[in-house]
Amino acid sequence: MRFWGVRGSIACPGPDTIRYGGNTSCVEIRCGDHLLVFDGGTGLRLLGNELMAVGQPAALDLFYSHTHFDHICGLPFFAPCYDARSSMRIWAGHLNGNKGIQAVLNNMMIAPLFPIPMGIFTAKMAFTDFAAGDMLTPHPGIRILTGRLNHPNGATGYRVEYGQRAVAYVTDTEHENGTLDAGILNLIEAADLFIYDSTYTDDEYPGYAGWGHSTWQQGMKLAEAAKVGRFVIFHHDPSHDDAFMDKIAAAADIARPGTVVAREGMLLTV
Ligand SMILES: [Zn+2]
Ligand SMILES: [Zn+2]
Repeated sequence: MRFWGVRGSIACPGPDTIRYGGNTSCVEIRCGDHLLVFDGGTGLRLLGNELMAVGQPAALDLFYSHTHFDHICGLPFFAPCYDARSSMRIWAGHLNGNKGIQAVLNNMMIAPLFPIPMGIFTAKMAFTDFAAGDMLTPHPGIRILTGRLNHPNGATGYRVEYGQRAVAYVTDTEHENGTLDAGILNLIEAADLFIYDSTYTDDEYPGYAGWGHSTWQQGMKLAEAAKVGRFVIFHHDPSHDDAFMDKIAAAADIARPGTVVAREGMLLTV
């Protein structure tokens, strides 16, 4: 697994975020020869450049948590879209019956928002809308469980199972104080790795109730209850600079040793 973008809301490059990174959500997961990508924020551009540098056509599945701008704006800058030898399948679980993922991405690339329409892509593209809660089998041997998250306009959490291992990608979502989300517990049960919307700290959260995001402390409670292996703090607030993220990392490592704070470029293997 490789992290190409770890931020939420908006990209925030600069000297104060250079160590944890400033690109928005994009995570690459390799299951054997298969490439799965979760979200297409600004980090997606960097992944695309690396894929094209290999000199081989890219073949991948891109799963969106949802279609808020920070999670989709990388697609027009994803080099494989302009490579006729490449192919991708695009999936989303929160739009079923509401236009669908192809229409939403199309709308992002119409004038005067963007100079070229999505029709200019030359890669083979397929679009699938499913309902959060469905089980997906993009390839033999890869099973993906999905679940509805608590986020304005909806969002989908994922659990990828491959070769006796399980990894959960759960962003963007808001918790209810004092409770654990049963749907999330179901997705992350005994997972080897659990990536979670940790936009805020518990101290900050009261100022952002209703914004659709959670805290690293809440993620840790979920991780404990579901007996997760490694917990990964993700979707960092753009106002959290490297010094602030270091403090979160230190506190999290005391609270649950082995906890990981996602950084751009970081590789994890399970
Ligand atoms: Zn987000
Ligand atoms: Zn969102």
